[in-house]
Amino acid sequence: MKTAMHWLGALVVCGFVSLAAAQAPDDGTVLEKDIPISVTEVAPGLFFQYHHAESNNAWLVTDEGVLLIDTRQHPRRAEELLAAIRKTTSKLIKWVINTHGHGDHYFGNPVFKREGATFIAHRDTAGMMKGHYGLEIKRRMGYFKQQKYDPAEVKLVMPDVTYDSKMVITLGGRVIELIYMGPGQNPGDTLVYFPKEKVMFTGGPFSKNSWANPSFTPSMSNWVAMLRRIAGMDIDKFLGGHGDIGKRDDVLHEAQQLEDFDAGMRAAVNKGMSKEEILKNVKFEKYKDVRNYYRLNLFISSYYYFLTTGKPENPLPE
Ligand SMILES: [Zn+2]
Repeated sequence: MKTAMHWLGALVVCGFVSLAAAQAPDDGTVLEKDIPISVTEVAPGLFFQYHHAESNNAWLVTDEGVLLIDTRQHPRRAEELLAAIRKTTSKLIKWVINTHGHGDHYFGNPVFKREGATFIAHRDTAGMMKGHYGLEIKRRMGYFKQQKYDPAEVKLVMPDVTYDSKMVITLGGRVIELIYMGPGQNPGDTLVYFPKEKVMFTGGPFSKNSWANPSFTPSMSNWVAMLRRIAGMDIDKFLGGHGDIGKRDDVLHEAQQLEDFDAGMRAAVNKGMSKEEILKNVKFEKYKDVRNYYRLNLFISSYYYFLTTGKPENPLPE
């Protein structure tokens, strides 16, 4: 892994976009910039862990215990997360929210189950977790191999509680709102809003300067509308499932990027271009510095499938 990181480091120096999209693996292997993990207290007792190459977390520390958002990509990573939380508090972890059904946000669940937490997710996220578990493991085999992690340590820990449209938790006098605005990147995307702190953890739908995998969304228009809607809310800090802390403009920037991607793909399909011709000729170079750009070919393939069949490549399982 060290060798891979050194190799990547060399590429980063001369611009990591030189990684050809065509070479991107589709198994979770990390080819991102090796920026160190950081923890920031974004509001009193509310901590954000940013890990550029993988996925992010937040946790709220109160007198009555801790509320954690997302659990990382493997129980070993979750143990590291738990150690980071323990640097901020010794209180019990009461609640864990899984924002969406991608393994890089919930495969660490077993560690917090052991800690006695109660798990919450949207009803459709529970459906994604159950129905796509095998797919999620498969999508991450390259990552497990890269990190020398045993996939067998991952166990499916399902939510104890699900909700449909909104759920409000009060913990130690703090208010946490779980909001569902319909599907964004995924069916079941939960937005976690801290109204007093003016902070929102956005999970899948918004990640600052990052290209989100579009193979799960059943509605790009709802996704874009959701971003515009949250950009209009009383929020100062948007904490994405990936990428650094964002502001309103970053959210609007992602809405624009998704619209440009959608429009560019529709125009190519309407011109009668084949998937192969699009992969060869349509590069969305305006966004070449965005995190995950190296996976563009995968995203084009998925979205081509969506536009030509009317269904996401990875739909909510029946
Ligand atoms: Zn993710």
